[in-house]
Amino acid sequence: MIFRQLYDHESSTYTYLLASRRGGEALLIDPVLEHADRYVQLVDELGLRLVLAVDTHIHADHVTALGALRDRTACATAMGEQSRADCVSLRFRDGERLAVDGLSVEAIYTPGHTDDSYSLRLPDRVFTGDTLLIRGTGRTDFQNGDPGAQYDSLFGRLLTLPDDTLVYPAHDYNGMTVSTIGEEKAHNPRLQVPDRQAYVALMNGLVLANPRLMDVAVPANRACGRRSDP
Ligand code: FE
Repeated sequence: MIFRQLYDHESSTYTYLLASRRGGEALLIDPVLEHADRYVQLVDELGLRLVLAVDTHIHADHVTALGALRDRTACATAMGEQSRADCVSLRFRDGERLAVDGLSVEAIYTPGHTDDSYSLRLPDRVFTGDTLLIRGTGRTDFQNGDPGAQYDSLFGRLLTLPDDTLVYPAHDYNGMTVSTIGEEKAHNPRLQVPDRQAYVALMNGLVLANPRLMDVAVPANRACGRRSDP
């Protein structure tokens, strides 16, 4: 498998490029608008053809490259069926598989950070969006976030995957690049709670500033990355 983890310094976002083989079709997860050129160049350098770009959820901290990539490469753009983005060409639902030339990516509905959050799973790894971060979890205090739903997504879905499943989040603010389900179960401070109620209390007790780009990013991302004119 061809796999690249790409980083946006501005928003600490990870973008993932996946393909089963050289010369084959490729998939991008959570691309950032400012790096659209870099993605297109890398896809080209690796001899790949971009056929699909997916956002795990409507992001509040960066503008998506979905629209730009669609315009430049004619790739399909996908989000979950709950998403209010108006311009995606394909909507997936829980349990559905996205087939990209030898890769079969399972969509797992994991609401909580937002009500349109999905995780994307391959046999050995899971892309957890902002649901499960390395030693953290995504905030639940805006965009229809719901800490109880997030508890269910974590404990009912993601943490039931095999312990050696690799965890690739949409962000990291501490320089970590990858973890495993087993490692997070044991060492993620947010997951050391006795029950759902305790998790809800923990999340509701966090005091967090809004992301710097939120007022720009959310409306732009509902339009696949087109910023509205002032
Ligand atoms: Fe997010």
